[in-house]
Amino acid sequence: MAQTEPLNEVGDAVVGSFRCASCDLLVQSPKENDGVLVLPPCPLCGGETWRRSD
Ligand SMILES: [Zn+2]
Repeated sequence: MAQTEPLNEVGDAVVGSFRCASCDLLVQSPKENDGVLVLPPCPLCGGETWRRSD
């Protein structure tokens, strides 16, 4: 069964690498501070949706 790729939104606390759903900009959670990144609005296009990138 095909599964829809889960999307994350601004304000979500995430761990790992994420790409902007609109412009594909890559953001990564830091190694320090428990490695948690709170997703920002995309600094490039202002998008508010992110998808996990592995
Ligand atoms: Zn973007």
